[in-house]
Amino acid sequence: MSHSELAAIEGTLSQIPFPKKFAVETCAECNLACGMCHHPNMVRPKGTMPFPLWQKCADEIAATAPYTECWFSFCGEPFLEPELLFKFLHYGKSVGLESLNVNTNGMLLTPDLVEPLLDTGLDLVVFGIDGFTKETFEAIRINADRDTVYANAEYLLDVIKARGEGPEVQIQFIEMDENEHELEEFSQYWLERGATLKVRRKLSWGGKFDTFEVFQENRIPCPWSLTMMHVFWDGRVPRCPGDTEGEEGAGNAWEASLAELWGRLGGYRQKHLEHRWDELPERCNTCTDWATGAAERIRPDTSPPCAC
Ligand code: SF4
Ligand code: SF4
Repeated sequence: MSHSELAAIEGTLSQIPFPKKFAVETCAECNLACGMCHHPNMVRPKGTMPFPLWQKCADEIAATAPYTECWFSFCGEPFLEPELLFKFLHYGKSVGLESLNVNTNGMLLTPDLVEPLLDTGLDLVVFGIDGFTKETFEAIRINADRDTVYANAEYLLDVIKARGEGPEVQIQFIEMDENEHELEEFSQYWLERGATLKVRRKLSWGGKFDTFEVFQENRIPCPWSLTMMHVFWDGRVPRCPGDTEGEEGAGNAWEASLAELWGRLGGYRQKHLEHRWDELPERCNTCTDWATGAAERIRPDTSPPCAC
């Protein structure tokens, strides 16, 4: 990202009383072992979020800021527990949450789950699909089958089209050396099928992965830490997504309100905003995720045909 693009992002950042985005780790297990993901090396205990914990979080979000973007899931595949996911989504809608979004690798979102998923009234489904050819896709999305994932995403798009309503479907492409040559073909394929394309750069996950060259003179406060809060399945709240094991966490959502936990992280946010990089945890100096920028979204052309 250029200096001016990063500066524009910095202009949107400030101390806010409640996060704009909230990631909910419904399930910390995963059926894949993707090459650019820290999940295969995750050492913290894995489990499934108890429903009462989500109820507690959802009630507070609904009372405080119902427009908060709630994202399922953080580090894990939510369709390993589809009934629980549906229960979370139904509850979120019942208390008035306005933005319920699901991230999936697509392997387990099989046709039989599509109607119950759409019946929850969720707002967005994002499929992580980083390759067009079988060879490229399966080299990145380890243990996944390209044709199954493509068929599942296309089936969901077809049902939404037949219903005439439903969530937006975004197909995410994480740009990497291994797949960038397929982006054009990939984009055309999915836009033709009515999906929105979401293209973003690879994350370093707290400096664990090499990404792209960053220039410290361009450094801006980390947008992740300024806008988003995460809760692990067991209620622990890490400092940021780079704190993948929760070693620098704020506390536990079972024991404190989300607003209080967000407030406890305010000191870190202030250091970011004042460019006091040296005072941040060491992880922030190896992590490049402050430079990842916003994902680019390209929507399909739905304008009517024109005779001129
Ligand atoms: S599917 Fe998602 S959580 Fe699982 S390994 Fe891949 S990127 Fe990580
Ligand atoms: S730059 Fe720092 S605050 Fe941002 S994701 Fe990385 S470790 Fe977290």
